[in-house]
Formats: sequence, C-alpha cells, structure tokens
Amino acid sequence: MTTRPPIPEPPHQGGCLCGKVRYSLNARPLAVNACHCTDCQKLTGATNFLVVIAPSEPFTSTGETQSYIKKADSGRELDIRRCPNCGSRLWHHNLSNPALVFIAAGTLDDPSWVVPTSHIWVKRAAPSVLIQDDALVVDGPPAERALLFEAFDRLYPPR
Ligand SMILES: [Zn+2]
Ligand SMILES: [Zn+2]
Repeated sequence: MTTRPPIPEPPHQGGCLCGKVRYSLNARPLAVNACHCTDCQKLTGATNFLVVIAPSEPFTSTGETQSYIKKADSGRELDIRRCPNCGSRLWHHNLSNPALVFIAAGTLDDPSWVVPTSHIWVKRAAPSVLIQDDALVVDGPPAERALLFEAFDRLYPPR
C-alpha cells in the first residue's frame, strides 16, 4: 500500500541549495509526476525527475535565475531555471504554455508530502525506481497532460 501524507495548505515554499533563490507557490498542485525519460535523467543527474505541476499565476520567486532553453523532439521549448551560484535545478515553464509551472520537488522546503501520482516514460525507468501501486503508469509520453491531472484528482480528491 502506498502511503500518501495529506498535502499541506499552500503556500508551498522552496529554494536552491545556497539560498539565493527562493520561491513560493500559493496554489494546490495539479499533479505530482515522475518522468523517467533520458533527458530528465541527464538534466537532474538523478534516475528520474519528480515534479510538482501547478498553476504559474500564484507562483513568485526572488533572486536571479539562469535560464536554459531545452528544445524537445516535439518542438516544444522548455525554459529551465537554475540558481547561477549553486546550480540547483529549480523549476521550468513550457514556453508555449506559460500558465503552468513545473517545480523540481526536491527543492521544496518540505517535500515530505510529495508522492508521485503518475509516472511517465516508465520504459526508461532505472531498476532502482519505486513505482507506487496506485499511481498512473505510462510507458512513454502521456497522450495528454490532462491524464496526469486526472490521476492526481483521483488520489487527492478536490474538496
Ligand atoms: Zn543557489
Ligand atoms: Zn522527462
């Protein structure tokens, strides 16, 4: 059985390792997704990218960030933000859909509640990866992002 601690009330705060960049998300997440694609492995330096997807309107940050634009095979461009001082990967936006922010879950001050509600690109997953038995599991890319939101709402029903 998967243990899912309740999601605390917003704001959700976080920042980089050295503390020069701080952010605050004043919204309920839309999804908690683990991506196991090779790009995410490289970009995180980890076996997968655990990300909190949320509306970007109540998302604010302080401190200078460094931008890296990653072009996906699909032509989509991601604006990936890091701390220029310590290099922590913090969040990214999809340039064609800036209404969403994708926050690297490990940069939250309190990541204890972050349990994936979906896993994508599972065919590339490292053998060490733990897949929750109640999460949505997608072999490659999801057909549409709404599937990730549905999986989250199923596991954390909106009040
Ligand atoms: Zn830093
Ligand atoms: Zn990925």
